[in-house]
Amino acid sequence: MNVYDADRIRTALVSTGWEEALEDVATLVIFVTCSIREKAEQKVLSEIGRIESRSAEGQPVIAVVGCMAQRIGDSLLDRFPAVRLVCGPRNLGRLLPGIDRIMDSRERLSILDENPVSLEDLGVSPLFRENPWKAYITIAHGCDNFCTYCIVPHVRGRFMSRDPEGIFLEVQELVSSGVREIILIGQNVNTYGHDFGNDYRFSSLLDDVASMKGVNRIRFCTSHPKDLTEDVVRVMSRRPSICTGINLPIQSGSDRILGLMNRGYTVEKYASIIEMIRDHLPEPSVTSDLIVGFPGETDDDFRESVRVVEKFRFDLVHTAAYSPRDGTPAARMDGQVPFAVKKRRLAEINRIQEDITMAINDALVGREFEVLVDGFAPRGDSMLQGRTSADKVVIFPGDASLLGSFRMVRITGSGNWSLRGEIIPEGTQ
Ligand code: SF4
Repeated sequence: MNVYDADRIRTALVSTGWEEALEDVATLVIFVTCSIREKAEQKVLSEIGRIESRSAEGQPVIAVVGCMAQRIGDSLLDRFPAVRLVCGPRNLGRLLPGIDRIMDSRERLSILDENPVSLEDLGVSPLFRENPWKAYITIAHGCDNFCTYCIVPHVRGRFMSRDPEGIFLEVQELVSSGVREIILIGQNVNTYGHDFGNDYRFSSLLDDVASMKGVNRIRFCTSHPKDLTEDVVRVMSRRPSICTGINLPIQSGSDRILGLMNRGYTVEKYASIIEMIRDHLPEPSVTSDLIVGFPGETDDDFRESVRVVEKFRFDLVHTAAYSPRDGTPAARMDGQVPFAVKKRRLAEINRIQEDITMAINDALVGREFEVLVDGFAPRGDSMLQGRTSADKVVIFPGDASLLGSFRMVRITGSGNWSLRGEIIPEGTQ
């Protein structure tokens, strides 16, 4: 979501005459921030401090937008003289006029979201993107689930679906600008449309976007297990452009902890959804998110989490040690788990999942997949990277002329985070 917001802010600024610049010559630095974990906020604080310590004669000016601005924006203004503007995520439509004001004066502006249901959005598509071939599109704002550990509903406000017509227009604009893969995003995409008062739902949107001309690939995230219904998976099964990777955060394997987290499902219900996905899709890749050390998590609860990881054999699990966020119910719960215990549990579950991921990836060696070549590999000369429909990253030799194209690759090696491969020359497939 922050990549999407940052790309839209970049687009809006460039279209009004701003130029992107390296940090050491920039007159304005904008941080698009995340509050989901304490570490994310600490990084921003240290970056603000670093830039402020070398700012001369009031330059560069710093603006902080997004969740962290909403959570602690006014204290950022108090603490850092170089921070001259803070702007909450539901007020991005007021950001550009705010920037004009602070650049023309010594003013310091706080544009925070006072009303969790109001929305003043930017109204531009992310045409200047980090990645030319892939683009995110927000389909809903906010979240009403109030998982007890999560700061999102407190900083991003109430759930609000975007009107489908606006989404279609954005898809068209992005496709015309060269995008090959659209990623529909929301805190819980599966509740899309529940606030419309009609029967237009996420499955309807997926189907409609998949039927649009020029849309080669569609992904979506995130799915909440309590709301992922069969109609969505049915649309996925009959639309080949919808990728087969699903992220379905389980968060814990203990029903007791899931209750304390206010997740709204049990492990049994989760298992039935996994079964439904695997029944409808021939080779889905299911990834998950899991928190260890939630308040009150006993060794037995943790063992339940280990059991679900072993049972469901996810392609990948994004694990995290519970990070208390001020203002959330879980931060005030009894039974906070000591750091050392969280660390030990995290290491253990990561080891188990790494073996599973490795075994799943090893079994792909020798297979052939279509990938969208979406960039250079982070390491290695003349190496490119692409993703399969199941969201596996494949690294292979190639040159810049292949960027943005779909190619068939043969998998020649595997690792935990990526696969290695080689392009199959066209005409020999
Ligand atoms: S569904 Fe839960 S974890 Fe996800 S954003 Fe909403 S409150 Fe946070």
